[in-house]
This record gives sequence, structure tokens and C-alpha cells, in this order.
Amino acid sequence: MIRTHIPGFPRMGAQRELKAALESHWRGESTIDALEATGRELRRRHWALQHDSGLDFVTVGDFAFYDHMLNHIQMFGCEPARFALSATSADLTRSFALARGIQAGKHDENGCACAPAGDGQPALEMTKWFDTNYHYLVPEFGRDTTFRLHAQRLLSEVAEATALGHRAKAVLVGPLSFLWLGKSKDAGFDRLELLDTLLPLYQVLLNRLHEAGVRWVQMDEPILGLDLPDSWRKAFERAYRQFERAGASILLATYFSPLEDNLRLACGLPVAGLHIDAVRAAHEVADVLDRLPPQRTLSIGILDGRNIWRADLERALAVLRPALEQRQDLWVSTSCSLLHVPMSLSDDAALDAELASWLAGAREKLTELHVLKCALSEGDDAVRFELDEARTAQAARAVSPRVRNAAVAARIEALPADADERRSAFFHRQIRQRARLNLPAFPTTTIGSFPQTREIRAARAAFKRGELDAEAYRAQMRSEIEQVVRTQERIGLDVLVHGEAERNDMVEYFGEQLSGFAFTANGWVQSYGSRCVKPPVLFGDVSRPAPMTVDWTTYAQGLTDRPMKGMLTGPITILQWSFVRDDQPRSATALQIALAIRDEVVDLERAGIAIIQIDEPAIREGLPLRRVAWHDYLRWAARAFRISASGVRDDTQIHTHMCYSEFNDILPDIAAMDADVITIETSRSNMELLDGFGHFAYPNEIGPGVYDIHSPRVPPVDDMVRLMDKAAAVIPADRLWVNPDCGLKTRGWPETTAALENMVEAARQLRAARG
Ligand code: GLN
Ligand code: ZN
Repeated sequence: MIRTHIPGFPRMGAQRELKAALESHWRGESTIDALEATGRELRRRHWALQHDSGLDFVTVGDFAFYDHMLNHIQMFGCEPARFALSATSADLTRSFALARGIQAGKHDENGCACAPAGDGQPALEMTKWFDTNYHYLVPEFGRDTTFRLHAQRLLSEVAEATALGHRAKAVLVGPLSFLWLGKSKDAGFDRLELLDTLLPLYQVLLNRLHEAGVRWVQMDEPILGLDLPDSWRKAFERAYRQFERAGASILLATYFSPLEDNLRLACGLPVAGLHIDAVRAAHEVADVLDRLPPQRTLSIGILDGRNIWRADLERALAVLRPALEQRQDLWVSTSCSLLHVPMSLSDDAALDAELASWLAGAREKLTELHVLKCALSEGDDAVRFELDEARTAQAARAVSPRVRNAAVAARIEALPADADERRSAFFHRQIRQRARLNLPAFPTTTIGSFPQTREIRAARAAFKRGELDAEAYRAQMRSEIEQVVRTQERIGLDVLVHGEAERNDMVEYFGEQLSGFAFTANGWVQSYGSRCVKPPVLFGDVSRPAPMTVDWTTYAQGLTDRPMKGMLTGPITILQWSFVRDDQPRSATALQIALAIRDEVVDLERAGIAIIQIDEPAIREGLPLRRVAWHDYLRWAARAFRISASGVRDDTQIHTHMCYSEFNDILPDIAAMDADVITIETSRSNMELLDGFGHFAYPNEIGPGVYDIHSPRVPPVDDMVRLMDKAAAVIPADRLWVNPDCGLKTRGWPETTAALENMVEAARQLRAARG
């Protein structure tokens, strides 16, 4: 028997309907009921797509208004007590308070989620979902954590699917992954201790799902692809043994990396089925076929759920056919949830027909699954046309002159061995930079972007549609830049930025101007909450035909005597946030991008810009999930960064910026990037990060983010002074900068100026206190 399913589907809707509905609700323009109705409609459509493409199940439980981990926090009743959420307010209202924080002295913007005159609460921490660009909200666990099951939302989604005539497979984050992905709030507390109180709730939930007619529950345990301590590996056996008598059959789902030392464990657990990622762990398929008991269901995730290239269906069939001979129950699937790819690419308005024919979004992957199923159950002839078409597209891409550029290859061939080194060591550079810049102690700066107002977005959109001509657009952006410069001068910031008004997205902006990239009109992927990104499609060799930022930056510098920081996106971040080629190693692609950025850095310096920031927020998310593979990645990633940064003089100051992640475990590699200054997110994790920077004795300058820009909350001066004092306890004060923890583009103006005024005041107090 051969069946098809997918681990999950994108939530936003083909036209990002969910984003629009969420943001209108947050602005107070629409009700919870309207939002719920949008959610229902999106689920209905997405299930219909799955059903109509011939999948044997539709997946239920993958939908989330904000984040699926947040759904689980609520489903298991472990909303942190610090939010003091009122049990009588709607669960969605409460979830938005957790996700977005609560401002002091205010109700949540939608009314009644929190106690009236509350102190305000920072949002839950947010971090990358494994090595993807999706961010989840981190559960907080402590000694006082208790669980209570609130399964209504999931059960009603099951009922919706059933009422629509679908066969539903429910999906849950498994108990071990749920605990692992959370954070222990109490020192010395091991969150694994919570397992025994959590398991009974899962058991009840499995029974309820079964009673609701769900035959299969996909239990996501992606942590089986990580290096796990023994105690956690053992806990898997304990947990899944308890589920043996649960009503529903469990499909244990792993994805994103090979199982390696957990392969035996995963194959031996007493569950009805196992899903494996046959893209990231193609070499393990044979081993799993051998080890997984024959009566168990095997789900082979053969199509890439993380990338957008049209599949080589014949190669997929060559893996699946032998598997089918060995298994009574074989499921065919995408490697992981399709959350990470755009809804559809086949008829994207911005792609030419040739390029579009090389690609597959979520909808096209559903079709590919169907073709595979037909070929396996009825023979290739049943889908001869589709197989031929796929083969032709593959072959065309392999030989296309759009993909290779001889000049790029020649430049890389001729690259000098020291192309990744600055002329002098940091110590010398620091002296020269100080002489040139003449900044006060605790210099203040921001991370680059300022609020992207409705007018800015409207102007950019009109320009793109051709309704606003280039001159008018340029004039409007320049006036925006001027305003941002004047505001920063008035607030008293030391190092200014131009505000990035002309940028829709920090990767797209550069990709659009580099060769080798293509852009979709509608290829959106959820990043967090209502935020979506439209990753470029990096299909060919990369080069920079012309300067990309020099004009805006020099215009901004011309308006002020204070230093204007040039603002670029680094090679690893461009790599990480694009859909990249699968026909050459990522390291080779990174090096090509690095050279293009280097050209821009050199041009900025030549135009008189003294400080250039090369953002690398994604450096850590590029880490392989298995530690054995870290070293190799970090070596080529840090080198790519240095190549982009090393074309300048000693007195040009290179900044980099990183966020969203824990960095303690890669500090030596961050130091090896040799940026003169790093600005880094620390505020959400209470500056824990700095312990690491202190212990390791990070050699260059640091701006630890002093407030969380993901929340509209305005941080009081005292809070920021306290955070900086903490920083100064581990890092010499003369190497510290004061800045927010990320760019301000998602914020509104009132809270931005209020927060920055407080921040500049905090810096003044710090200077005064230290004489
Ligand atoms: N310079 C970018 C900005 O300020 C950095 C964004 C990021 O780190 N994600 O928007
Ligand atoms: Zn950032």
C-alpha cells in the first residue's frame, strides 16, 4: 500500500491573507471573530488543495495564527505566570500578549489579556526553528511549571476537517521536542523533569483525537536529528512506551538532519510509523529500511520541503521502488513541513517561463507527490507526460548558460591567499579608527533600519508598479532619509544610519541588484508571526554589475557631520535567506556573494564612508544541526565574511550585527570574523550572552542590544543603564557601544523616538558615572 501526505502546509494563504487579518486585528480594526473566520477559511482552502491533489490525508494542527509552538504552550496550559493573563480573555488575545509583550501600565492593545495596571512584560523569547528562517516562541519552564490540557482548538480543527469530508492526520510537536525547545527559567532546573507530568496530557490528547476520528497522529520529534544527551535519548523510550496503548496510531516524524546515533533508537520505538527526511539524510534510507520492523509504516520524505527546485522524479522513484518492495505500508512525503517554501511558483508573475519550469512551491510539490504515487502504484506509463516534462526541465537547467559565468570562476581562481585579511591587527586599526572618528565613550548607534511607514511602503510599491517615476521615487526616499538623519541628530545619536527606507528586505534589496538572483512576485515564506519574507532564488553565479548603496549612503552622509554608517547584508545571511542552488556546495556560493559585497564595501570607502556595517544575523542559523559538521561550516563562513570586509584601510571601521540566536558556543568563530565592532541581540535573554563574551575575552568592540525591538514597549532609562552595567562587568567599558538589539523597521515612530531618547540618556548617565 502506498500513501501520500505532507508533514505540514504554509499557513499564510496564497495572498498572505493571514498577515492582513492579523495586522488589522492588532490595529484594532477587526474583531477576534473576523480573525478566526480568516483562519477557518485558510484551513478550508489548504485542506482542499491537499485533498484535490490526491493526498491520502490532510494535515490538521499545522495551522497557527502566530506560531505552532505558541499553540502548544497554550494547549498544554503552560503560559508563563509572569504575564498574569486573565483566564477569561480569549486564548488568541492571550497568545498575542505572550508573542508581542505587554506595555507597562497598559492593557494589551486588544483589551483584556492582562491585569489592568500591570508592570509590562517583555514578550516570550523567540528563536530559530532549527536551521530554518522560521522563528518560534520559546516556552519557559521552571520548577513551578504545571500543565493542563486545553485541546479545544485542535479538536475543533479536526472537526472542521472531518465536516468538510477529509480524512485528517493530526500533527503535534512531540513531548521531548517540546521540552527540549523550551528554556529552563530556574538555575539548575532540568526541564526533562517535567516529562512525567506532561506525558499523561499527551495520552489524553491522543485518546481525544482518536475519539474524534483521527486514525494517525504525526508526532514531530525533530530533535532526533540533534546530538542528544543520554538522559534525553532514554526518555524517548520511556515516553513512547507510554503511548503504546493510546487510541491513535503515532507516526513519529523526524526531519532536518540525519538520525545518525539516534537511528536505532528511532527505529526501535514502539510507534506505528516513522517519517524520515530523505533529502537531508538520503544515505540513511537503506539503513532505516533494514532496521524498522516490517509491520511498521515508513514515511519517506523524498521531496525537499525546504528548497524550491523541481524534483528529479526519476531519482526519487529509484529510491522509492526498492523501498516499496520491502514495506507493506509505504508513505511518500515531503522531507518536512512545506511551511518553509512559498505557496506556489509555477505561475508567479515575476518569473520567466524557463526559470519557473525549474521550480516547485508547495502546490507543485503536492502535484509531484501525486505523480510519484501514480508511478508507483500504476507504473510510469500512467504519468509518462509528467515524468518527461520533469526530466526535460532538469536537463535544461543543468546546461543553461544563465547558470554559469566564466568571469566569476576566473576571479575566484585568481583570488590571493590573503584576500580574507585586514591590513593590520585590530589593535592598530582601533587606534586609527579612534583618531578618525573621535566618538565619546559608550557611543550610541542603531542597527540600520528606521520605521517603515505606510507612505514609504506605498512609494516603493508605486515605484515598482511603474506608477511613480524614478526621479519622484528618489526624491521621496531622499526626503525620508533627511528626516531620519535630522531625527537622529535631534535625539543625539553618535553614529547615524540612513534608515533603509529604500529596502523592502535586507536580502531582497541586494539580490535584486546582483546577477545570479531571480525574484518572485509572490513567493512569501513566514518568518515569524505575521512577518513574511520573500527569499530570492539564487540560481546562477553571482556578481555585482554596479554599486548598490553608495548613492543613498553618500547622500545621507552629505546631510550631517556625524559619521554615517554604510549598511550592507553579509554573504552568509544572503546565502541563508535565499533559496540557493543545489548544484554546487553552499560554500562556493557564499564565496561568490562575498566578492560581490567586497566590491560594494570598497566603493563605500572610496566615497568617504568611514563606518560600514555588514549584517550577519543568520550566521548561526547556518550551523549544521550536528556538531561534528560545525567546524567546516564556520571556517568557510567566517572566511566569506572576512573576504567581504577586508578590502578596506585600517581606519575604516567594519561593524557586523547578529541577532535572534545564542552565540556563546561560537564566540571564537565570531571573533575570527574580525569585525571591528559587533552589535548583537542580548536584551531578551537578559544579557546572558555577555557572560560568554566575558569568559572568552572577546577581543574587539561590542554593542550589546539594550532593548528588545520586537515589542512596542518603551524601555525605561534605568533598565538600559542596568543592562550596560552588567555588560561593563565583563567587557572593558571602553569597548562598549549602546544600541537597540535589531533594526527598527517594524516599529512605529512614537515608540522608536521615545526608546532612543531613553537610550541616549542612558549613555549620558553611563558616561557621567564613569567620569
Ligand atoms: N540592518 C538591518 C536592519 O536594521 C538588520 C536587520 C536584522 O538584523 N535582521 O533592519
Ligand atoms: Zn538584527
